[in-house]
Amino acid sequence: MEHKKIIPSEKNTRILPESMNLITTSGNLIITHSSSLKEQTLDAIIDYVFLRYEKIRFFFETPPVKIHIYIFPHQSLFHLFYLGREGEDWLVGATGNGLVQIIDPNAVTNNGQTFETMQKVVVHEIVHYFTFLRGYTKKRYMSEGIAAYLSEQHDERYIGVIKKKLPYIDGIAEQLFKGNTDEGKFAELGGYALAYTIIDYMLQCYGEEALKKYFISEYSHPFGLLKIDFDVFINDWKQYLRQIYS
Ligand SMILES: [Zn+2]
Repeated sequence: MEHKKIIPSEKNTRILPESMNLITTSGNLIITHSSSLKEQTLDAIIDYVFLRYEKIRFFFETPPVKIHIYIFPHQSLFHLFYLGREGEDWLVGATGNGLVQIIDPNAVTNNGQTFETMQKVVVHEIVHYFTFLRGYTKKRYMSEGIAAYLSEQHDERYIGVIKKKLPYIDGIAEQLFKGNTDEGKFAELGGYALAYTIIDYMLQCYGEEALKKYFISEYSHPFGLLKIDFDVFINDWKQYLRQIYS
């Protein structure tokens, strides 16, 4: 899921579609949407986020914060607002400009997404929001991994991706850990599904406190801070993947 910080001058070029003229607030959520959004969809999103909000907040050790969510009625309106142009079908949610932005789950045209996966996308983007609140840049495999982990995105689709990538894992690991992959490349490598397993494996090896320590630190790379040998970790993680997914 793409996310970026939008610089202030860029902010002014973002025009909210006129149809998005309703605001619903619930607890710490402020949701801007259009009248075409079904009430039951809104309720389902709010309930899903509520159940996970505190866990995420504790993970990043922040006070309760208000989160502004824009739910766009159509993909094209979202892409126009976020990118200023039409985008790829895989772009269904984003965090940037202090906003979590998603497409109405009922209007998503990407056939890999369902109502349930779109609820997870909202939580995924909220995790990015908290990462941004901390203000430090994290390695992509770590920021996407924690977003996938805390939003519970590890499903059949993720498992399928991991199995498909496993035979090429040496080359992929080289690019994931040492390369500088942009979002498209990262997705192509199976980065989201694999990043989940990096976090899962780190939690098993070092525990939640170590991961929290990293995510609230200014380190972009987890290895120095947690005193983990980089190459040993990568080898152990690959071994772990082979055990679980082959
Ligand atoms: Zn993401």
